[in-house]
Amino acid sequence: MTISPQLDTRADGASNPPRQLDVLVVGAGFSGICAGVKLQEAGVRDFLIVEKGDDFGGTWWHNTYPGCAVDVTSPMYSFSFAQKSDWSNLFAPQPELLAYAKRVAEDHGLARRARFGVAVERLVFDEAADRWDVFLSDGSVCRARVVIGGFGGLHVPKIPEFEGLSRFQGQVFHSAQWRHDVDLRGKKVVVIGTGASAVQFVPEVAKRAERLTVFMRSPHWVLPRLDYAIKPWQHAILKRVPGARRLLRAGAYFLYEAFVFNLFFPKVFARFFEAAAKAHLRSQVADPQLRALLTPDWRFGCKRVVMSSTYYPALQRPNVILEHSGVAEFAERGVRSADGTLHEADVVVLGTGFETTEGVLRLPIFGRGGRSLAEEWRANGPEQFLGLGMHGFPNLFTLVGLNTTGGNQSVIFAIEAQMHYIGQAIGWILAPGSRDTRVELRERVQRDYNRDVQRKLKTSVWLTGGCKSWYLDSKGRNAIAWPGFSAGLWWKTRKAKRADWELSSAQSRGSAEGYAGAAEVVLAGERVPVAVDLRGHRDPLGGEYRWYGQIAKNAKVAELAERHAAGDVPAVLQLPGREPVPARLTDADVEGNIRIAGAGALPFAARPGAPSARV
Ligand code: NAP
Repeated sequence: MTISPQLDTRADGASNPPRQLDVLVVGAGFSGICAGVKLQEAGVRDFLIVEKGDDFGGTWWHNTYPGCAVDVTSPMYSFSFAQKSDWSNLFAPQPELLAYAKRVAEDHGLARRARFGVAVERLVFDEAADRWDVFLSDGSVCRARVVIGGFGGLHVPKIPEFEGLSRFQGQVFHSAQWRHDVDLRGKKVVVIGTGASAVQFVPEVAKRAERLTVFMRSPHWVLPRLDYAIKPWQHAILKRVPGARRLLRAGAYFLYEAFVFNLFFPKVFARFFEAAAKAHLRSQVADPQLRALLTPDWRFGCKRVVMSSTYYPALQRPNVILEHSGVAEFAERGVRSADGTLHEADVVVLGTGFETTEGVLRLPIFGRGGRSLAEEWRANGPEQFLGLGMHGFPNLFTLVGLNTTGGNQSVIFAIEAQMHYIGQAIGWILAPGSRDTRVELRERVQRDYNRDVQRKLKTSVWLTGGCKSWYLDSKGRNAIAWPGFSAGLWWKTRKAKRADWELSSAQSRGSAEGYAGAAEVVLAGERVPVAVDLRGHRDPLGGEYRWYGQIAKNAKVAELAERHAAGDVPAVLQLPGREPVPARLTDADVEGNIRIAGAGALPFAARPGAPSARV
């Protein structure tokens, strides 16, 4: 539970009134751009895109390391509605992808609907108004009827807690925060990690550094990167011949889609891919000892497959050392490996990957009844529906959320498919004349869907391939991958089923029991008279009774609520003539009213059948 430090200032009355919006889009990566384009197409004009970076581009804005390029072919790694005829290569480099993202945004006039350099710090659902209060890093607040989160899964760097890291006197940075001001020429460099990112930048660093030590914890399967510089006459064909671009795109799609056979039937198919990867290793590495070191002992596809034709040659350069005994500690002048050797370094580059679901959980999101997304996901495991919606978090949609990509197919394909669905769902509440203001996924739908997803993933290579990867959470559950062909996601997102969602408005929910009037809050032994407005309902599935509402702006309660949030003091609410009940103060809304919620014991009189109040 979190009470924001901003609570006091907002309770005093923010100088700028919150901006009211139909839709707030979080992130200006490919997800945010697609959301913006599709919202405009659907006639939604009152939306804002907020982005912590300085421009459009998302992952391609953040990742600027040398050698950075896409490893899904560019004709497929692009929007179906903004196909490009003049990709320089089959696998476009990062500057070209960034330029493409900016151009699509520009062509659709998205800049005037975007704010850059502003991070979303907190999202709180206001259930009285069916709006999300979105707290931004510049201190401003937006109140949006709908939030679409294009959070992205690969932008929060994972920095392992290496022993002695703070002792190191040189420069350390993560691959997604590349320090272009640090000249690597003639330097001693250590790279930790050998995943998809490191495999791309290690050959570039090896060319510049005087000495490079690469710390490899486990070898990865590497396929050759069959890149190809597209010729001007081929660009002309793609531009002028009707259907040529679509044909190339379809070819790229089906080629990558074939990899799904390996993901779900590894016993049959992995051996073919492993044979190809071993042939690649043999063709590039003559030394059998080094080959043995670079051969994984897990099934192909268990970790994301990397593609490179320059990585193995780079490891064999005279100025490169491959260290495989593990990182023991950082010292002042380098990194000590587990065998006791000190690898001197002026610069250490961490290619240690990203916080995937953990990254999203750093953003405090409070849904209906003050429920915290982080607490729910940590307690029950992360769960969504089609990677785009969650029970308990009405009017909140995400793009490339949980279980949407297998790593083989273009993520943009998933983004477009999901946005097609989201467009329909938000239409139910935003369409002119709609009487509903809230759209919430039914719990049963989420539960059944996830049971099915996890059942299908049980035999997949991620769970049976004998490796640990970022696809699996600490409980060994795969909350990342889509369980099958990506066409399945496309199919399931064609038509949003109204029956899967609960549509309501404050009016239609008016039948719920409630109380408005005087009450007392007991916090830290102090009884504070307050005015409350409360509602409650019985959870139709769990049977538990939930109640929630507001305490009218009250400076004393706001002050004590800080301690309550820190876990120091329990809170109790008592209505006139009723038993006191335990309560949870979750937050303040933009007017300074403090949200209060509880479960189990009711503070007010209930219809027959509801539980009586007990502390
Ligand atoms: P990653 O695949 O998670 O690799 C992280 C690397 O760091 C692994 O080699 C890992 O070793 C190592 N590592 C992590 N913690 C360590 C520790 N405490 N000590 C030693 N080594 C440690 O991360 P990434 O390379 O940044 O790639 C992440 C994802 O980004 C990819 O899977 C891919 O989806 C995406 N990506 C895409 C492209 C593209 O072209 N489309 C390019 C780059 C990245 P272990 O293997 O032993 O865990």
